[in-house]
Amino acid sequence: MAILTHPSALDASVEQLAEVGPKTARLLEKLGIRTVRDLLVTLPFGWESFVESPISELVPGAQASVVGTILSIKPLTTQRRRMRLVEATVTDDSGAQMRVVWFHSEFVLRQLHAGDRVAFAGVVEKNRYRGQPGMVNPRYERLDKRGEEGPKKVGGLTPKYHLVAGLTSSRIAELVEQALPLADRLEDLLPADVRERHDLLDISEAVRRGHKPETQHDIAAEPALPIPYRQQVIDQFKAGLGFELTHAQRRATWEAFQDMEKTVPMNRLLNGDVGSGKTAVAAACVAMAHACGLQSVVMAPTEILARQHLHSFRAYLEETFPGLTVELMVSGLAAPERRRVRAAAASGHCALVVGTHALIEDDVEFANLGLGMVDEQHRFGTRQRELLRAKGRGRPHFLAMTATPIPRTLALALYGEMTLSVIDEMPPGRTPVTTEVIEPADRVRAYELVRREVAAGHQAFVICPLIEESETLAVRSATVEAQRLQKEIFPDLRLDLIHGRLKDKDEVMRRFVNGEVQVLVATAVVEVGVDVPNATVMLIEGADRFGLAQLHQFRGRVGRGSASSHCLLLSDDPSEPSLNRLHLVTRISDGFELAEEDMRIRGMGELMGPRQHGLSDAAMNALLQPELLSEVRQEAERILESDPAFEHHPLLKASVARRLELTSIS
Ligand code: ADP
Ligand code: MG
Repeated sequence: MAILTHPSALDASVEQLAEVGPKTARLLEKLGIRTVRDLLVTLPFGWESFVESPISELVPGAQASVVGTILSIKPLTTQRRRMRLVEATVTDDSGAQMRVVWFHSEFVLRQLHAGDRVAFAGVVEKNRYRGQPGMVNPRYERLDKRGEEGPKKVGGLTPKYHLVAGLTSSRIAELVEQALPLADRLEDLLPADVRERHDLLDISEAVRRGHKPETQHDIAAEPALPIPYRQQVIDQFKAGLGFELTHAQRRATWEAFQDMEKTVPMNRLLNGDVGSGKTAVAAACVAMAHACGLQSVVMAPTEILARQHLHSFRAYLEETFPGLTVELMVSGLAAPERRRVRAAAASGHCALVVGTHALIEDDVEFANLGLGMVDEQHRFGTRQRELLRAKGRGRPHFLAMTATPIPRTLALALYGEMTLSVIDEMPPGRTPVTTEVIEPADRVRAYELVRREVAAGHQAFVICPLIEESETLAVRSATVEAQRLQKEIFPDLRLDLIHGRLKDKDEVMRRFVNGEVQVLVATAVVEVGVDVPNATVMLIEGADRFGLAQLHQFRGRVGRGSASSHCLLLSDDPSEPSLNRLHLVTRISDGFELAEEDMRIRGMGELMGPRQHGLSDAAMNALLQPELLSEVRQEAERILESDPAFEHHPLLKASVARRLELTSIS
């Protein structure tokens, strides 16, 4: 294998590897793998874990492998459906027995016989048959009878690679095995101090362990407690809702339930437009966890959202499931209330705690946490999410929710390690939001519309322009704008202002929800992700400064009731490209489609010219991953501030700063 010694071996074509011909090379190319380096940095997106277990300790629903001796093996035909199968009874060293069944696989009878020692790997069935556990269609490997040799092919950890037809994960694993000695030569692009701060492995080690984890811990496959599916729970849950779940909600719920039945922790991203009803899906999962005695936790990025969740989860769950209680943990709570909630969580008495980062900071402990969830997951760093997950016994199942539409084409690459549920359908009865671009000279028309809607008993949001320089400036300008609107435009209306620095955001929000406030002026950073069905106008100042997907998110705050709603995009920039861009929002109502347009327009293409950037697709994709992007931005800003190279080049510094600004997604 000359390739391994050649100095440029990393950049050699994969065809240099043994047993890779032009055909395999073409298949690999479809996966973006052309060189040995590409092969190395394309990590598995998941693992199948078939940990060896005695029969007596098998967990239904979990993957496992068993080494045992075949007591009997014979063909059978089922009585009712006349299906042909092969049935074997297997015993392990302890004498416990399990039943193994293969459908339509009579060839097994030629390969396995009574008395053979065999390793089986598959999903453990809850078998009604004499109360024994079982496996259906397991993979198997005959072993040497003396029992010295363990299985080579079956059991343990098997990587799952993204595939195209004609390739299998085990084939890719063989090629990786050949290339792995070259991992030492990969160059680390990250400075050592950055790696240290984020607890990152060096690139060679990361690639090695990424393909061949040394321990379960390396793949984060610390087992979760399986949450068995109970039909009755979901029936009860549905009966308690005031509405029918949409198709998309049912599909997402079902996908989550299937994950939660396993001991491999669920790691699922629930991606659905604002208002698509992600909370109900999450609540169904909470109910299922509660039914088997496990607690859940939901972390939201702001106190307002956490309180809204408290309200929704209580409405979805507390009346339907007596004994299921939901509590709130936010930093604003009085000390006795905090103590009470902490005790409720630690004793296992409450089924769900909804909260903000206070959950982590206050070190809330759980008796029996089985399910962790975060809302608006891009607002949290990896570390915060890890801290939440660390509260579990074992590793809790994990469900992340996001309304940031991720283009379908990228979702796979972005969240390689997560499985994805997309809620691509809105609950019925939503009136579409009429969206209009209003040019500066026409501003009066926007105000008239606000006035008309308020006169009809509705409410309006006014979002102030995005000010990147600082939150202080944003607060100041929003304050000035709120005063101006109150004095000059709407002297007779009840206005209020909400921004990130405000102590009592909840109080303002409460007054808006109650209808005491008619027009709510908000800075762009403030999460207005609350449900106010009576709000029918979303007026966005400086709309040209926002991403299309973000405008779409603001728009999603109205149109939640039965009245028709309006989204008004006021632009400071009357140039044609800018207006054209905003007009996309008027035409496209699908958040995913807008996100794709956004990326096309604002993406790296604009920055550096298509395909001229010299970044790999993987790097491009990583840049579009919101939470990673935010961590990367912080590091870049740190370098920008501290690196002496920039000190003498103010122009360079300004241009880099501008790039950073352009890469901000939300
Ligand atoms: P998301 O978190 O995805 O933005 P929510 O879960 O807050 O959306 O749901 C938005 C609103 O829609 C809530 O008032 C909720 O009660 C309602 N809703 C959710 N699912 C349905 C449904 N299937 N039919 C009718 N209304 C629904
Ligand atoms: Mg939500």
